[in-house]
Amino acid sequence: MDSKLPDTGTTIFAVMSALSEECNAINLSQGFPSFDPDQELLDLVTKYLNNGANQYAPMLGVPPLRDAIASKVEMLYGRKVDADAEVTVCDGATEGLFSAIQAAVRPGDEVIVFDPAYDSYEPAVTLAGGTCRHIPLVVSDEQPDFHIDWGRLKDAINERTRLIILNFPHNPTGVILTAEDLKSLADVVRDTSVYLLSDEVYEHIIFDGAAHESLLKNDELWQRSFIISSFGKTYHATGWKVGYCVAPAALTTEFRKIHQWVCYAVVTPIQHAIAEYMQRTPEHYAALPAFYEQKRDHFCELLKDSSFSFRPANGTFFQILDYSAITNEDDVAYASRLTREIGVASIPVSVFCEKKSDDRLLRFCFAKNDDMLEQAAERLCKL
Ligand code: PMP
Ligand code: GLN
Repeated sequence: MDSKLPDTGTTIFAVMSALSEECNAINLSQGFPSFDPDQELLDLVTKYLNNGANQYAPMLGVPPLRDAIASKVEMLYGRKVDADAEVTVCDGATEGLFSAIQAAVRPGDEVIVFDPAYDSYEPAVTLAGGTCRHIPLVVSDEQPDFHIDWGRLKDAINERTRLIILNFPHNPTGVILTAEDLKSLADVVRDTSVYLLSDEVYEHIIFDGAAHESLLKNDELWQRSFIISSFGKTYHATGWKVGYCVAPAALTTEFRKIHQWVCYAVVTPIQHAIAEYMQRTPEHYAALPAFYEQKRDHFCELLKDSSFSFRPANGTFFQILDYSAITNEDDVAYASRLTREIGVASIPVSVFCEKKSDDRLLRFCFAKNDDMLEQAAERLCKL
């Protein structure tokens, strides 16, 4: 059969987790916690499973969950959204991203992504008949963290540009947007008809007192945006695959036309359980930064005398380590070798980039119990 995605192999997350298992390694590759959700949330799932919430949910998501999402968006980002017309529960962020891309992109359109770019964006653009234009996030002496070069973004926009995909806090680099960045973005897109797709799945995992700069905060940006999030990251439940899309009514109408044919609806008891949990424990969000910051700090402290160099992540549960002082081997080969030889699995960053660079970077997930991080660091420190 002729492939519709001839350049697509198996996602690196499946590849590295399988290799990790085969080698019985410590798996810091694919991003998922090594611990369970709060027992109270698990009990709520059981309660709804045992109380008849086992048939199709409404196509948009169950009303209590859409209401809880709308309340959260108002409380955290100051935007009042209509839970019926502007909030849709999705089959994980992955489906939300896919459906938004299918809704927005037509054959011949260009979509701007920032490299390193999460790997599900480009195949979805290709299937919609569009083409990705990759703009690298850059580092400079003045700004040593990866960031958007706004001039470069402006230059890349042309009459075919339909969509810009953003992802902050950023997987894999862990960088975040500032309030100033939102203004720069608004300046760049102001006189264009470009839509924005903002992947904010790590919205609650942000460190050092920084605030998450959601596109929901900005009136101008909101008008043209699909904002996607995932309960998987927020509630330590990546296996549940429940997320959501918030977008203005006109965009949501088009989004739902796709969503209904991709999955129709999302797992019912878990939607009810999350809705009730969100209502009972709104403080969960506030506690998440400190919880993960402690893990980031612990992991970085353990590695401070290693041969890796790094700048601590500003958000997400990923830490990038630069291994250029150890070897010049390319990152795909090195990640594989580390998994096989020292039993620590990571993700090579170059797989998220269109162009190969001289960077020697690996991504490690620190959403793990301390003993796992300590064992992994002990092995990494011997390199
Ligand atoms: N976007 C980013 C940046 C991610 O890291 C992930 C992975 N977890 C997703 C989307 C997909 O989220 P979900 O598991 O809810 O589909
Ligand atoms: N988002 C997760 C990561 O970055 C992986 C999700 C997946 O395996 N599709 O590791």
